[in-house]
Amino acid sequence: MKKPLPVVVHKFGGTSLGDAERILRAASLLADAAKKSTVVAVASAMGGVTDQLLAAAHQAERGRITAARKVVATIRERHQRAAQEMSQTLHVAVGFDAAPLEELETALSGVALLRERTARVTDLIASFGERLSAPLLAAALAAKGVPARAVDARTLLVTNDAHGAAQCDRKKSDPKVRRVLAPLFEKGLVPVVTGFIARSPRGETTTLGRSGSDTTAALLGAALAAKEVVIWTDVDGVLSADPRIVPNAHLLPRLSYREAAEMTYFGAKVLHFPAVLPAIAESIPLVIRNSWKPEGTGTVIASKAAPGSGIRAVTAISGMCLLSLDGRGMTGVAGIAARVFGTTARLGVSVVMFSQASSEQNIALVLPDADRARTVAALEQEFRYERLTGAIDSVRASGPIAVVAAVGDGMRGTPGIAARVFDAVAKAKVNVEAIAQGSSECNISFAVEEHDRVAAVRALHAVVAGAAAAT
Ligand code: ADP
Ligand code: ASP
Ligand code: MG
Repeated sequence: MKKPLPVVVHKFGGTSLGDAERILRAASLLADAAKKSTVVAVASAMGGVTDQLLAAAHQAERGRITAARKVVATIRERHQRAAQEMSQTLHVAVGFDAAPLEELETALSGVALLRERTARVTDLIASFGERLSAPLLAAALAAKGVPARAVDARTLLVTNDAHGAAQCDRKKSDPKVRRVLAPLFEKGLVPVVTGFIARSPRGETTTLGRSGSDTTAALLGAALAAKEVVIWTDVDGVLSADPRIVPNAHLLPRLSYREAAEMTYFGAKVLHFPAVLPAIAESIPLVIRNSWKPEGTGTVIASKAAPGSGIRAVTAISGMCLLSLDGRGMTGVAGIAARVFGTTARLGVSVVMFSQASSEQNIALVLPDADRARTVAALEQEFRYERLTGAIDSVRASGPIAVVAAVGDGMRGTPGIAARVFDAVAKAKVNVEAIAQGSSECNISFAVEEHDRVAAVRALHAVVAGAAAAT
């Protein structure tokens, strides 16, 4: 018997599936890959469609069903046009099945009627982008002579019911992935799986969070012990900074999982942070490549970092706020930090950054600005006794804040890094509001006012670029 070819998962982002030309380009890449490996494709929604679906949900919630239906019509036309154009190019019919759009209209009508939108129905509405794009990519492949089958990820991946950012239960999902996909491999069909979506234990549609198709690809790769997971996007790979902020950011050919995790956690949009976790667990390389320049080698994210010292990349996240608890009465009182974290955990608020001054008279937390009001209220309630006695002053909140992070495995044990970081930021006249250094020493992160974000990233990137040029 012939040895089965190694599995390679290929994920195409919305930017790589934006129109007929791009879908055909993706299909060609898959057709090439299918000659040397067992291919699994993962499709994101066509660029911008998830945003449109969420906008339609918002309109429906306000009772504006006509506006919501207009959005649906735009989405329908865009997919139909892509199918038509592909048919013209390939001289073979590329079908588009609009049936899911009826279910979408029903869901929107329900929301409009009730003028209420739960997280559950938002996930259902958001799921349609991938449910339309995956069959279109499968049809394009078939029209190119590569037998393919669209697969709804809700038959493969089971998550918890944290709608909007659900987490996959790999124990339940991995066997399903293998059970559903193995017969397709045997028949020589390329599965084209919907990214982003999954189902809860009760069978409701869930989503893995915005940009979650990367995570779908990594989860499938982990379940299938893939040789690698390729993330096709619109940049050459992971760059030393967001190219929209730093136009001369350079390509990082190799990153460790830890560096990728730190970068994506602190805002590098090129990869969805949770995608790194299944890849680490099964030691599967993630390769980020440009679908417009497939000859490029991209960025390989694997166990070992590239050699070299110092900072490798700069990232930033916006939309944060800074909360601080101050008070002389906090000195030497054990358990204040534990109570702060207990409160945020109870609220389900994720604390992006935390710092405690060594005098123990101040604790600073950075968290999403959207969670500001309820977190302040809950902390004031938690520390009501200390506030009455004057041990703690009121909880102060400021924002909007951005967190800027310098990342690099080589920062460990390189003396003087923090000095260089803060020297560069000070020279750019940016005021640092709070600082944290992860215990891994692979990152230094600090909070700045939102209007200083770009200046801080650029100033810090000049340090990275200087170091890269010197090696
Ligand atoms: P896709 O639709 O392929 O998933 P995304 O828009 O989610 O694409 O991610 C790619 C984009 O991420 C790039 O176009 C770039 O603007 C942005 N980006 C932000 N930070 C980085 C970085 N450090 N390296 C590369 N791209 C980055
Ligand atoms: N379509 C989803 C989004 O726009 C998921 C993804 O593209 O990865 O967030
Ligand atoms: Mg993305």
